[in-house]
Amino acid sequence: MPYQTCRHVKEDGHLCQSPAVRGEHFCHFHQSHRTAAIAIAQARVRGEHPGLYLPPLKDPWAVQYALSDLLNALGAGEIDHKRANIILRVLRTASDNFKNGNIQPARPRPALIAPDRGPGGKHVH
Ligand SMILES: [Zn+2]
Repeated sequence: MPYQTCRHVKEDGHLCQSPAVRGEHFCHFHQSHRTAAIAIAQARVRGEHPGLYLPPLKDPWAVQYALSDLLNALGAGEIDHKRANIILRVLRTASDNFKNGNIQPARPRPALIAPDRGPGGKHVH
């Protein structure tokens, strides 16, 4: 049974290709991030100070998202420098872990892929 894959284009130009949430165009991670990013942008337009949304740091792209969100929150004056510095150190550690191979980026687990497909979308029988 074919399934939709995430339409998110990563910063390296490749499609995410994780299984999309049923009825959606994006995987759970990118759908959640987009929903949060839209909610934060709408709150800023209303003059509110929504603060910072940090995605789970499951791969280097998530760290990039978090850095971008940190920059936006700092630029909007929504978090103090001390807190931003702590978050920045955590993000640096996460980035170093990926760079040094201490942690491999998360891959979709077979259970998250359509039941009749294994990793890489190959049929499993
Ligand atoms: Zn995705």
